[in-house]
Amino acid sequence: MTAPIGILGGTFDPIHYGHLRLAEEMLELANLRQIRFIPTGTPPHRATPQVSAQHRSAMVLLAIADQPAFMLDEREVNRTTPCYTVDTLRELRVDLGTTQPLCLLMGGDAFLQLHTWHEWEQLFELAHIVIGYRPGFTIDERIHSATEDLQQHYQQRLCTADDLSRHPSGGIAELAIPKLEISATDIRRRVVKNRTIRYLLPNAVANYIHQHHLYKPC
Ligand code: ATP
Repeated sequence: MTAPIGILGGTFDPIHYGHLRLAEEMLELANLRQIRFIPTGTPPHRATPQVSAQHRSAMVLLAIADQPAFMLDEREVNRTTPCYTVDTLRELRVDLGTTQPLCLLMGGDAFLQLHTWHEWEQLFELAHIVIGYRPGFTIDERIHSATEDLQQHYQQRLCTADDLSRHPSGGIAELAIPKLEISATDIRRRVVKNRTIRYLLPNAVANYIHQHHLYKPC
């Protein structure tokens, strides 16, 4: 059995303690040996990030500096074409081999929209999916709002965190993780209004934002 590697994709515009706590809890609860933070380059699902990929990567690097199990993976920011998760996982499979368990980490809301992702059913061939849900807001109670295909995958693939290291891919595990009320959108708005962002994200990231005048209107 090999301990799984977690994959946490996001715009990280900027990275904050909501992301870092999610990753830290998942590292522990799913017995992951590493989490790769993969900032997205050109995200297909959402608006273009406000600051360059280089700045967003630099902020991730500062934020994870003191956790040796966290790693910055820049494969998506170096692409100019739309980044689909399925392609990123295919690349990771080539790099890490076919037997290494991989876990795609996401929140419950993202999971319920999984059927909208490019080649979404292929994701299960490439990785497990590990869902962080807010205690009291289980996926089981909300899965009826998903498409029938997604409901079927959910029911057939549900497994425990311990099962994740037994197979390279294909399982769905759920972890109860309190969600901090922090969002990158709120942090960007605060910067525009000259309001404090201290304690919402690591000091090193806050300093970087101020030094480089990020998120300020030109
Ligand atoms: P925005 O406010 O710009 O939408 P965000 O922080 O919600 O930013 P991403 O940077 O793309 O968005 O988030 C990456 C991942 O982290 C997503 O899976 C998202 O669900 C999760 N995430 C974001 N904020 C939190 C939080 N406060 N607690 C737990 N998970 C979070």
